[in-house]
Amino acid sequence: MAKIVVLGAGIAGHTASAFLRKKLGKKHTVTVVAPNAYYQWIPSNIWVGVGRMTIDQVRFKLAPLYKRWGIDFRQAKALSIHPEGENDSGQPFVRIEYTDEDKRGQSDQIAYDYLVNATGPKLNFDATEGLGPNHHTVSVCSYDHAAHAWKTLQESIRKMEAGQPQRIVIGTGHPMATCQGAAFEYILNVAFEIRKRKLSHLADITWLTNEFELGDFGMGGAHIKRGGYITSTRVFAESFLRENHIKWVKRAGVTKIEEGLIHYENLDGEQKTIPFDFSMLIPAFAGAGLKAYAKDGSDISSTLFAPNGLMKVDADYNPKPFEEWSVQDWPSTYRNKDYPNIFAPGIAFAPPHPISKPMTNKNGLNIFPTPPRTGMPSGVMGKITALNIVNLVNKGEHELVHKANMGKMGAACIVSAGYGITGGAAATMTVFPIVPDFNNFPEYGRSMNYTMGEAGLAGHWMKWFMHYMFLHKAKGYPFWWLLPE
Ligand SMILES: Cc1cc2nc3c(=O)[nH]c(=O)nc-3n(C[C@H](O)[C@H](O)[C@H](O)COP(=O)(O)OP(=O)(O)OC[C@H]3O[C@@H](n4cnc5c(N)ncnc54)[C@H](O)[C@@H]3O)c2cc1C
Repeated sequence: MAKIVVLGAGIAGHTASAFLRKKLGKKHTVTVVAPNAYYQWIPSNIWVGVGRMTIDQVRFKLAPLYKRWGIDFRQAKALSIHPEGENDSGQPFVRIEYTDEDKRGQSDQIAYDYLVNATGPKLNFDATEGLGPNHHTVSVCSYDHAAHAWKTLQESIRKMEAGQPQRIVIGTGHPMATCQGAAFEYILNVAFEIRKRKLSHLADITWLTNEFELGDFGMGGAHIKRGGYITSTRVFAESFLRENHIKWVKRAGVTKIEEGLIHYENLDGEQKTIPFDFSMLIPAFAGAGLKAYAKDGSDISSTLFAPNGLMKVDADYNPKPFEEWSVQDWPSTYRNKDYPNIFAPGIAFAPPHPISKPMTNKNGLNIFPTPPRTGMPSGVMGKITALNIVNLVNKGEHELVHKANMGKMGAACIVSAGYGITGGAAATMTVFPIVPDFNNFPEYGRSMNYTMGEAGLAGHWMKWFMHYMFLHKAKGYPFWWLLPE
């Protein structure tokens, strides 16, 4: 009988536990540890942030579903991993602390034979002074943040309705923040909502980004096929902003926020400020803050985790100059090399290096995006992790056959640009592969047959349809396993 413990119930963890439970015999146990009572479909938080959806439309309770599936759910946060066990016992375990009403604050430990660390990102607001919903800016990274963002945005809308101009700044809130796509969606949706209310003349909207060029999105930008010709994501992103009368500031590393004032440094090393009335800035991401201990109690966190707290897996972490980066550096199975019964799919794994070219200003400040890991790859990584563990349990140790290297995998992304059955809009983009591969695709680093983008109303319908399709899948409704990640 094997004990499998999954930490996290986001896109990677929920997908992994769903497939583990479906494919493993009932004599094996699957335990999920997650601090939140709810699953949330994060991409639709953008629509919560502009009042088009309520938080209950983007979340559902995990406990009833896991009960139905036969998964042992612990509403708790994992604190530490003990991959060699403790004292005389060699049984690996994780230490957890409950977060539910009944047992809040109590600690416990759960033994495992295989561990899936899918704890996603810690939203590291503290890395930028004054950033985040507890300080001066809002966020759309979780449903409660997004609901707060909408409340704050409504105050700005009310002021504009009373004739008062508003300065709106949306983008990245740390010199090395990623997730530009989400912020880009939000700025387009905010501009759309303001335009719908005929208040655009009172809104001064600015896109503030750490990207060297617009459309970098943490993946070094891309050339895409659009309407039969080849263009760049820079042109694609700039035209979207221009059409929406949005200004932009690029190559900007936000260092501090004060009430109504963002401080940033640019790549020329200049210290600048930009005033705001409403601002949504994405924080830096870090690992969930788990510790790891050896059998004798010594701290082995640096063996399991990179300095940013994300977990080391089967990637090549040897430092290399930008010119020598290769898709071979990227992991395929998300398996830890020192403790091969531990896996880290989704945002929880430590990338070997950035994808965008590193840029540093004369003051030594790095200003460039770290690599994004969007929902589709996170779901695929969760699924292949589950399938590999199922094979390990059933067949014993062997070379893992299920692989998902970001240099061999594509991603599809729909960037919402406004909500509405007839008036909505979105940009639909696919890139293949996610990490550019100049050996196989010497001209652009990506396949021009599969890297494309289009904009229009149909994209909105697809995004809207995907909201319901992915929630159908996550809720384990009929034939959920046939739906793509
Ligand atoms: C606003 C927004 C919009 C987005 N839109 C898109 C989009 O349109 N398309 C797209 O492809 N991607 C999108 N993304 C990215 C996508 O949401 C992420 O790629 C995806 O959620 C990553 O999945 P994950 O499972 O790694 O992490 P998450 O989904 O963040 O899940 C992490 C899980 O770990 C849990 N956890 C945290 N700490 C602990 C702990 N100590 N112990 C146990 N559990 C823990 C969390 O509670 C959560 O359940 C968007 C992201 C944001 C923020």
